[in-house]
Amino acid sequence: MDKRVKEFMDDIKIRNGHEPEFLQAVQEVAETVVPYISEHDIYAGKKILSRIAEPERLISFRVCWVDDSGEVQINRGYRVQMNSAIGPYKGGLRFHPTVNQSVLKFLAFEQVFKNSLTTLPMGGGKGGSDFDPKGKSDDEIMRFCHAFMSELFRHIGHDTDVPAGDIGVGAREVGFLFGMYKKLRNEFTGVLTGKGLSWGGSQIRPEATGYGAVYFADSMLKTKNQTIQGKTILISGSGNVAEYAAEKCIQLGGKVVTMSDSSGYIYDKDGITQEKLDYIKDLKNVKRGRISEYVDVYPSAVFHKGKTPWVEKCDMAFPCATQNELHEEDAKTLVANGCICVTEGANMPSTIEAVAVFHKAKILFAPGKASNAGGVATSGLEMTQNALRYKWTRTEVDEKLKEIMRDIHASCEQYGVEADGYVNYVKGANIAGFVKVADAMLAQGV
Ligand code: GLU
Repeated sequence: MDKRVKEFMDDIKIRNGHEPEFLQAVQEVAETVVPYISEHDIYAGKKILSRIAEPERLISFRVCWVDDSGEVQINRGYRVQMNSAIGPYKGGLRFHPTVNQSVLKFLAFEQVFKNSLTTLPMGGGKGGSDFDPKGKSDDEIMRFCHAFMSELFRHIGHDTDVPAGDIGVGAREVGFLFGMYKKLRNEFTGVLTGKGLSWGGSQIRPEATGYGAVYFADSMLKTKNQTIQGKTILISGSGNVAEYAAEKCIQLGGKVVTMSDSSGYIYDKDGITQEKLDYIKDLKNVKRGRISEYVDVYPSAVFHKGKTPWVEKCDMAFPCATQNELHEEDAKTLVANGCICVTEGANMPSTIEAVAVFHKAKILFAPGKASNAGGVATSGLEMTQNALRYKWTRTEVDEKLKEIMRDIHASCEQYGVEADGYVNYVKGANIAGFVKVADAMLAQGV
């Protein structure tokens, strides 16, 4: 590791030594941004990156609710308000048993750079709870969301901090959260994004993260005079991001052969068609079933229990499940099998070692903070429509999303191109995201 990066990380470790996911995210940024800072005098002595790595405010609170059997349950809720240099805090809420302070700080830190890249005025934040929505009834979900918002409401607002969904928080949860916020504040504002279409939501918001990732992949392929048409594609996950990444790949003529959940992955040698994908959407979002059930309906597919899809042969891969789901060995297998393009739909799905493999092989690799920014970008468009009390059409929002993804790609190229012409999108995304936030922080003083 570069000496300057090591010194920087040693200092960060003093305050955050017990938070592995957060340290991983900071190190990944520091490796490219610390050398950039030392080459640019305007940042000298200002400790900008250290300041970005310290949350402006970190709220932790108790969430008590009553389950269907009448028993009292206790969970922990959080909101990490990471950075507000360029706009109100913005970022999702994650409900999952693995949620803790380290995970939310890593996500909030990533969000600062991601939101900066979108070209829209949004700061970075993240929140959530260790609550596990799996197996809970609709009523239990509602009671939990109401209890969660009965504390969170005092810390957020449409000009202060605007949460949205993430893992475990979809349209249903955003609805319950919004309902309680409205009751407590007696106001109808765009305090959450990902709202339903009839009550302030934006067209394309559900699709945006997945579609945006595919638009970004398409821009990367274009630099090699290639398209998605005819490519064999591995997708992990089967939540919102994975579903719409698959949908856009299918629309653009790609052959998607895998999807997964925490129990394993399905491999469909004939490819997942729109009709089969509609089955998966219904299975996951309405029936709340498991991906393994796919093989009962489509016998052309095989279910691989407890495995991730990276062993299958492909041209492109979209990790869309969760952090650290793609390891060094997986990366080596993907490269050896001829994969030319890896686009992160999830946040930090590839480990630092896996990313190093992709860079060494000089394949196209897009970090989530660039390639999955379409979700929060469309949240930004939802905020704009709410502020204007206006609604854009599906085509209008999709066009804006495409333009934003093209702009992010251009920013990554601007800051990420290396001496031999290889575009290091990690470097590009980190530096482009940093510069805008850092310049705002410089302008606003310590
Ligand atoms: N959770 C999403 C992300 O990781 C979206 C956040 C938002 O829309 O605010 O970017």
